Amino acid sequence: MNIFQEITERILKGGEITYDEALFLLSRGSFRGELYEAAHRVTEALTPKRFDFCGIINAKCGLCSENCKWCAQSARWKTGCETFPWIGAKACLKAALEAEEKGATRFGLVTSGRALDEQGVTEVCEALQLLRQKTHLHLCASLGILSKEHIERLKEAGLEWLHCNIETAPSYFPDLCTTHTVEEKVATLKHARKLGLKLCCGGIIGMGETDEQLVEFAFALKEIEPDSIPVNVLHPIPGTPLFEKGILPPDRVVDSVSILRLVNPRTPLRFAGGRRDMSDETAKRCIYVGMSAGIVGPLLTTPGGDYDDDRHLAALAGYDVSPDLRKN
Ligand code: SF4
Repeated sequence: MNIFQEITERILKGGEITYDEALFLLSRGSFRGELYEAAHRVTEALTPKRFDFCGIINAKCGLCSENCKWCAQSARWKTGCETFPWIGAKACLKAALEAEEKGATRFGLVTSGRALDEQGVTEVCEALQLLRQKTHLHLCASLGILSKEHIERLKEAGLEWLHCNIETAPSYFPDLCTTHTVEEKVATLKHARKLGLKLCCGGIIGMGETDEQLVEFAFALKEIEPDSIPVNVLHPIPGTPLFEKGILPPDRVVDSVSILRLVNPRTPLRFAGGRRDMSDETAKRCIYVGMSAGIVGPLLTTPGGDYDDDRHLAALAGYDVSPDLRKN
């Protein structure tokens, strides 16, 4: 039995891959086939066979005070990004109904900015209440850094999931953003977990992370134990400091998804930003090694996946893609 098979058998029996092993597998570029086979076997055996789709709406866009180097919405970069204030509860409802119609089972309200003020939390609560009354969707939100008190109010209004990405390896994050910290994000996630919310937490690959940082990112996620891991692939936006990074080569995308799968064997990995930069062939390979969820419709400032394309590819790979509106 070679090392790839040995690690696969261990994970299938409930064991874990170590940091050093994940780094070793990632560094063996000439053994890509073995890495993908290992990730595929783990995906087949341990992840749910339902491809889960959620929808999101950019409910407040741009003019952000923060300096995240990848983001078009930071006011520090000249990106020409559209900006608008809070869109209101009715506009959120319209988008939610469209996502539900397309087959999403969960819907997230996303706002730009470091954190919401009291009025911002009140506005999001009003939208959540309306969506709870008028749709069957599970409700999620991505609102930056939140206090326990604010999360309590949002939960009361209907919030079931909270999204907050750690974005990359904690040791690399300070190179990409200095206006807030991973620790603040993790504290937000911990408050949400304590209050019984489900967590959606992932990040962006292709921001210049080394092999070590990619593996560190995978293990940082494992520690958080999210219920869903969105995997964005950097879509380089002119005007942002990361523009010069370019688009991640397809093999590196699939390698990264494979490592995320082996380190987090049971967690749905979700196509997010950057999906449109990928060919369907690369998307198929990503599904083979572990992607098992997606986002319906337009994303924030980058093109998202096409629901029909992703649904088709997921069905070809043997996933159940019918909507599931059971409360989970
Ligand atoms: S990622 Fe969020 S916090 Fe960072 S600049 Fe963009 S909108 Fe602001």
